[in-house]
Amino acid sequence: MRIGSVPRHLLIAGLAATMAAIALPRGAAQTPERGRSVAITLDDGPVVNELKDLANFQRIAGRLREALVAEKVPATIFINERQLNVQGQRDGRAEVLAQWLDAGYDLGNHTYSHPSLNKIPLWQFEDDLIRGEVVMRSLLEERGRKLVWFRYPFLDSGPDAQVHQAFVDFLEQRHYRVAHITVDYKDYSFAGVYLRLLRAGNTEVAEKVKQAYLDQVDRGFEHAEKASAEVFGYELPQILLIHCNELNSVTLRESIDRMRQRGYRFVTLEEATKDPAYLRPDTFAGDGGSWLERSARAMGKQITAPQPRMPKWITDLPRAGR
Ligand SMILES: [Zn+2]
Repeated sequence: MRIGSVPRHLLIAGLAATMAAIALPRGAAQTPERGRSVAITLDDGPVVNELKDLANFQRIAGRLREALVAEKVPATIFINERQLNVQGQRDGRAEVLAQWLDAGYDLGNHTYSHPSLNKIPLWQFEDDLIRGEVVMRSLLEERGRKLVWFRYPFLDSGPDAQVHQAFVDFLEQRHYRVAHITVDYKDYSFAGVYLRLLRAGNTEVAEKVKQAYLDQVDRGFEHAEKASAEVFGYELPQILLIHCNELNSVTLRESIDRMRQRGYRFVTLEEATKDPAYLRPDTFAGDGGSWLERSARAMGKQITAPQPRMPKWITDLPRAGR
């Protein structure tokens, strides 16, 4: 077709129709008008690995919250209440949870001390979960809200089908819903290197790691978009897993901008999980992992889209210099 021979408005209408046909896969529940959406979740809250310095704990949590508020983006923060249990700092640390709630955010249970269900007995894991909801539950209830979400530490959902099912039943009795994930670009690997560089005073390389991390946001979403199409035949509402760390506290607004540029709008976990892709029963499917990987295994499908890798120059950085 010669572009010059077709009236412009017809051409645009034709292009739009073609793109709609491409975007709408066989049997898709998602219409092109709905477009891409993502629910942001932050794990290991309020702040991972800051069990000493209250001011630093408050600073990092505050920055994460301010970034989301400024971008007007919903999020669910998964808490390990062990982090609140620091002598002389308990009130100051619990206050951070109240601040999240009062800013309109949701909190979920990520157990008290972050054990793996694949490595400790079920009863011990269940005790840890219950211990992990004490402060959060009362703060939520004071505000007329309910504790709904649970996330598996390490995404480990049990060593075998029997333990998995027993735990799923336990969650149901306690009215929890499992928050699955679909986008995971291993932010913690970048965050660890970034923090070591900052502490070593190597701000120049730290800045480069930060930029590489922002590029990884795109790689991570690319992977999830392709993998969702492979497993479900369309792009489901994604659920992003990142962590409450220093690196995200300084990059979250830019990360959100990357997502916006990919066409994402931001939704709550509640809204994302209305998609039929999340209604498949949560059967045991091996070593945990993302909902895309778990679903692929359960459905006997293969994900061929390659996982994003950490740039080699970062993994090659000398350990001491990091
Ligand atoms: Zn975690």
